[in-house]
Amino acid sequence: MKLVKHLANLGYGSRKEVAWMFREGRVTDADGEVLYADDVVPFDAIRVDGEVLDPPQGLLLMLHKPVGVTCSTKDPGRVVYDLLPPRFRLRNPALSTVGRLDRDTSGLLLLTDDGQLLHRIIAPKSKLPKVYRATLAEDLRGDEAALFASGTLMLDGEKTPLLPAELETTDARNARLTLHEGRYHQVRRMFAAVGNRVVALHREQIGGLELGNLPEGERRILDETGRQALF
Ligand code: URA
Repeated sequence: MKLVKHLANLGYGSRKEVAWMFREGRVTDADGEVLYADDVVPFDAIRVDGEVLDPPQGLLLMLHKPVGVTCSTKDPGRVVYDLLPPRFRLRNPALSTVGRLDRDTSGLLLLTDDGQLLHRIIAPKSKLPKVYRATLAEDLRGDEAALFASGTLMLDGEKTPLLPAELETTDARNARLTLHEGRYHQVRRMFAAVGNRVVALHREQIGGLELGNLPEGERRILDETGRQALF
C-alpha cells in the first residue's frame, strides 16, 4: 500500500493533508531522514513528527472508561472516542467498542478495528467471563448468589433464562459478579430482579485481561500477550 493511503487510513488526515505532511518534511524514517510519498519503506520504520506510527489494522485497545462517558459515536455529551487521539476516530476500518458499558458504569472497555476479533469476544458462544464490582443501595438478602448461579433467573421482557453467574459478596452492599454473556443492562437488571438497586458499577476484567492500575480515562494498546490474556 502506498504511504499516503496508509497514513490516511490511520486517520492522520485526508490523502491531500497527508501529501502535505510529506511535503512539509514531517514524515521521516527512524533516523530522521525525510521520506517522500512514493518511497517504499516498512511501515514500522515511519515516524510522523518524530513519533512512531499507530498500529495498522488489527488494533486492540483497552480503555479505563470513566463514569459519565458514553460508548456511542453520536451522543451529544462526552463519548469514549473523546478520550482517544482525534485521528483514532478517522481510522479506516473504523474503531468500534467491543460491546458497551452504560454511561454510569466505569472500568475496562475494549475497542478494536478487527471485526473477527470483536465477534470472537462478544459472540454468545464465546462465554468469555466479564467481572463487575457492584455497589448496592440495599443490603444483600443472602440468597442472591444461589439464584444467580441457578441458570433459572428470568429478566423482565426476556424469553430465555440467564446463564449461571457467580456472585462473591465483599460486604453487605458490595459484591463481585462474573457474567458469561452480555445482555442489555444485565447487572443492573439482575439486582433489580432481587429487589435491589446498583448505585455504582465497575468492570474489572474481561476473560483473563484485568484493568489493573490503568488510570481512569487512559488507554493501552494491547500487544499479542495482552490479546492472549483475553482467551
Ligand atoms: N451491566 C449493566 O447493567 N451495565 C453495564 O454497563 C454493564 C453490564
